[in-house]
Amino acid sequence: MSSSTPIDAEEADLKVGKAKTHAAGLTAVRISMATALKQMGPVRTARNLLRLNQVEGFDCMSCAWPDPDNKHRHTAEFCENGAKAVSWEGTRDTVGPEFFAQHSVAELNTQTEHWLEKQGRLTHPMVLRPGATHYEPIDWDDAFRLIGEQLNALGNPDEALFYTSGRASNEAAFVYQLFARAFGTNNLPDCSNMCHESTGVGLSESIGIGKGSVSLQDIHEADLIVVCGQNPGTNHPRMLSALEQAKHRGARILAINPLREAGLLKFNNPQTPKGMLKGAQLADQFLQIRSNGDLALWQAFGHLLLEAEERNPGTVVDREFVESSTVGFEQYRKHLGELDWDEVLTATGLTREEIESAAELLATSKKIVTCWAMGITQHRNAVATIKEIVNVTLMRGMIGVPGAGLCPVRGHSNVQGDRSMGVWEQSPDSFLDKLRDEFGFEPPRHHGYDAVNAVRALRDGKARAFIGLGGNFVSAMSDTTVTEAGMRSAALTVQISTKLNRSHLAHGSTALILPTLGRTEKDLTGGIVQRVTVEDSMSAVHASRGRSEPAGELLRSEVDILCGIASATLGDRVDVPWTEFARDYDQIRQRIGRVVPGCENYAEVIRERGGFTMPHPPRDSRTFPTPEGKAVFTASPLQVLTVPEGRVVLQTMRSHDQFNTTIYGLNDRYRGIKSGRRVVFISAADLAELGFADGDVVNLVSEWEDGIERRADEFRLVEYSTPKGCVAAYYPETNPLIPLDSTALDSNTPTSKWVVVRLERRA
Ligand code: SF4
Repeated sequence: MSSSTPIDAEEADLKVGKAKTHAAGLTAVRISMATALKQMGPVRTARNLLRLNQVEGFDCMSCAWPDPDNKHRHTAEFCENGAKAVSWEGTRDTVGPEFFAQHSVAELNTQTEHWLEKQGRLTHPMVLRPGATHYEPIDWDDAFRLIGEQLNALGNPDEALFYTSGRASNEAAFVYQLFARAFGTNNLPDCSNMCHESTGVGLSESIGIGKGSVSLQDIHEADLIVVCGQNPGTNHPRMLSALEQAKHRGARILAINPLREAGLLKFNNPQTPKGMLKGAQLADQFLQIRSNGDLALWQAFGHLLLEAEERNPGTVVDREFVESSTVGFEQYRKHLGELDWDEVLTATGLTREEIESAAELLATSKKIVTCWAMGITQHRNAVATIKEIVNVTLMRGMIGVPGAGLCPVRGHSNVQGDRSMGVWEQSPDSFLDKLRDEFGFEPPRHHGYDAVNAVRALRDGKARAFIGLGGNFVSAMSDTTVTEAGMRSAALTVQISTKLNRSHLAHGSTALILPTLGRTEKDLTGGIVQRVTVEDSMSAVHASRGRSEPAGELLRSEVDILCGIASATLGDRVDVPWTEFARDYDQIRQRIGRVVPGCENYAEVIRERGGFTMPHPPRDSRTFPTPEGKAVFTASPLQVLTVPEGRVVLQTMRSHDQFNTTIYGLNDRYRGIKSGRRVVFISAADLAELGFADGDVVNLVSEWEDGIERRADEFRLVEYSTPKGCVAAYYPETNPLIPLDSTALDSNTPTSKWVVVRLERRA
């Protein structure tokens, strides 16, 4: 099954240089300003960048790293990738009816993600009617009517899918889930299904809430920060400032990652002369672990900490906390007593000395914060690994105390907020009851489809309509060939977007593109200055208000579009004031305050205080809303995944010029890549063993238990520091290699960090 994504003409100039050993620096400032001035011009650049992440400004539409409190906020409170995200949205280039008249869907399909988004901001609602070759303009009300007719023509509500990307505001997310449920389905797949769903499951089952337990202040106060399976230099760059602050205070950093990422080694903070000239060394110890070795590693940590406790009782295990607030410790302790070190060393690819030295850091530190991202969550055993991290955290009593805790770092600006607002295919009855009581209709109770099941439903003809609230589902999902075919089999696809992308081209018989306002832009829906709210990775909720002129006069806000579709679809079927909601978002916040747990008096609090922190019982009071009423230790069997002879295991990842499926440029300067994306990072040992050389061009073929060979062609091999047997390449180009059914246990998250591939020499 071959699905080679288009190749950018610019890739002909691909250059490979040395990887960097520090992040940011002056180059980050130069690139940020050059990108901003090129896309937005001087005036809009100044306006947008000076409002980015500011109190009365707008929230960055990129990652979910929190903002410092008002007293500690910088004038330039953003990073290089934040500047790229704002520039990409604030561009003066536009895509309107004339563009679509010029370019057929078939022709656009030959273009890359980078080329598609680079064309500019969408300005007009567009429709592609059955059999047509080109999108054509459509009036907003006609668009809403058409969507309503198509949705109501479905055999049953569960044939519709309501997908959410993490950029959607809390107000849009609340209205969206309300619409889907009033329509009669819980089919609410969202981008969290592809990234931190394993975190949600692992934490909910062990501490009773699927969110991290730390604040930014805790990071600043920690004396040990563990960063595992995360590349903050590219994916959460302002985190480096927090790590630098902690280092200045004497903290130590333990980095665990297959790749020696520049952002884990050293940070040249461009905001300070000392940062710029000297920089801050980050990792004190770096464990260059094999992909999927983390479960074994954290079990070894637990084992060594228990041994240290036996040697000096009361020095490692927080006995009082363990006895009073947890269950399952004895079973866990017994389980780790049988640890097989051979398995640990095989799975991790590390030496016992390396592991023992890292465990020493965990045993002796007083305040530990453990951070993680996709390198932990996108594996078959991800949920077990997260529970293993929780085990060590509980054993040390590192939760609900200052300077310590669990810190899954979210990749999309409001992905956590969307879930809090009810965007979840399996919301609990307690939430659905509140919705019923507030709006007087009985919401569906059977669980809906998450992202992987949504593609299965499209493939199997069980889903016939797809509505995308932002994002680029087709390119973000695994098994691109199956996902694209599924979307094309639909009767209706609707994409609420700011820019053109591949999901507009893998379309249903009837397809609509609805252009929406961005975070930087003024929202005067209903004739008043509207603001929205978001929740960051540390549960801090705050307001966001754009002030730039919209990219086009026909653009509408996410809330306005959703209320238009809901009204046209449901009519007076349910007693929901869609028009009032679109007129005044405070009306929505009033309802959020009565339905969403932890958001009491939401409208008033946002109006008066501008924000607050969502409750988190383990953090706030060391109480654990699990069925047991306590935190839970878990004894997970250790399964070491092996790679067949002559094969390697691939992890997909972002370049430094990328945010999710948005490709800002073709460089990855920290890894030494210029003008190219079809590269595979591979160790010298694997090149020698497999009979290849740096610079060879190969096809990648993934092999899976279903016997189907999935292909991605034409990748240049780049010799790189990575554990033997482990290679890395960018998505979405390598997403065709990930089998749809290759997912994490319990969370159903695609295993994007573990794909067994063979390298095929190109003829
Ligand atoms: S760290 Fe994340 S949220 Fe902050 S400016 Fe950078 S990309 Fe935006």
